[in-house]
Amino acid sequence: MISFAQAQDNLHQLCRTWVATHPDVSEPLALCESLGRYLNEDVIAALELPRSDISAMDGYAICSQDREGTLTSQVFTLKGESRAGEPYSGDPLAPGECVRIFTGAVVPESADTVVIQENVERDNTSVRMLQGTSFGANIRRRGEEIAAHSAIAIAGQLITPNMIPLLASQGIAEVTVRAKLRVAFFATGDELKAAGDSLGEGDIYESNLASIAAVLGHYPIDLIDLGVVEDTPEAIKSCLAKASEKADVVISSGGVSVGDYDYVRQCVDAMGVVSDYKVAMKPGKPVCFGHIDDAENWKALFFGLPGNAVSSFVVLTELYLPVMKYLLNRERVIPNTLLEAILETDLSRRGGRLEFQRGVLSRDEDAGGRTSLRVSAMGSQDSHRVLGLARANCTIKIAADVEHISAGSKVTVSVFPWTDLQ
Ligand code: AMP
Ligand code: MG
Repeated sequence: MISFAQAQDNLHQLCRTWVATHPDVSEPLALCESLGRYLNEDVIAALELPRSDISAMDGYAICSQDREGTLTSQVFTLKGESRAGEPYSGDPLAPGECVRIFTGAVVPESADTVVIQENVERDNTSVRMLQGTSFGANIRRRGEEIAAHSAIAIAGQLITPNMIPLLASQGIAEVTVRAKLRVAFFATGDELKAAGDSLGEGDIYESNLASIAAVLGHYPIDLIDLGVVEDTPEAIKSCLAKASEKADVVISSGGVSVGDYDYVRQCVDAMGVVSDYKVAMKPGKPVCFGHIDDAENWKALFFGLPGNAVSSFVVLTELYLPVMKYLLNRERVIPNTLLEAILETDLSRRGGRLEFQRGVLSRDEDAGGRTSLRVSAMGSQDSHRVLGLARANCTIKIAADVEHISAGSKVTVSVFPWTDLQ
């Protein structure tokens, strides 16, 4: 059995090899359709920003007589106006002259300072400064925010809503993004029935396919649902062959433990390599991953999930999701968000494996207005308990050698990526 950290390293290595041997494929997308996708290349600024010296305030752009220090009580002759969309177009200002200017308007080249309108007294032809203004004040300098040809976003970066003002302000209407990852997935288990089917004695409704689709549906992934496969080596091999033709990653559910009908591992072994089997994590010990090969190359990565609904969910989100994000961005593994929280009640358990206990994380505010994060573990942590999973919003990570944690201690929680903290 390998540690969780070792499994993460091995998975990373496996995925690095896959990325190195599978050339990146990209597609152009309209900016407005690119949210949630990963950039395929650096975005280089086409424009410097601002494009000229721009006034930061409403006031007067002056050409000062005294070009040093703090300017006070000078009188300027008004020569015109510069407003957004209509820059001043008269003769260059001479010392002692000024133009009316508004926020966002181009500062004439011959002006050196903007004096805010609250600090002047004016009539129709002249402006008198009432207070000191430092030389060069209230001007946003050309190129001060973005230099021409500098990288404003980098390959592999996730395109998020807060990047849109930057990209749109560069006049960018289209970006090149990484192609979607193709993930084929199937479930094994002769007891599994689809919603709508009648249940015989011992049958259960299949729930892992929907769970995989729900977790991965948040990402740019083409999901190929291959349904439930019979618990026979022939059926599983034929499904693995079909899946690896169509997909970059094949995910299976169930059939990876050591029962008489658990054929998945031996089938993957026969068609490629099972690089690891058994990870010291709870829930989820029967985990195996590797790759499915053809003659020259890897056809697809293989990530096996345990059958139990909670184990399957935890292994997918905690172990596989960070490396799947690496396969998407092709640059780096993205761990789930870890936070420190105060444990609400004592927690005892049997040690030996890194455990991900389902928990409820909440924000607490004390009388002095100080906020803290608090977490409580769901009562039962059995790996089939879907009710506890549904009510949770995080997992509490408990190190393999820890058996008891007292209430009030700080623990590390891994927040479900879609959680809005109350
Ligand atoms: P297995 O890993 O195949 O031994 O399955 C372990 C447990 O999880 C068994 O009780 C199965 O009935 C259950 N199980 C397996 N696959 C699924 C699935 N796709 N949906 C819901 N439960 C499952
Ligand atoms: Mg089974």
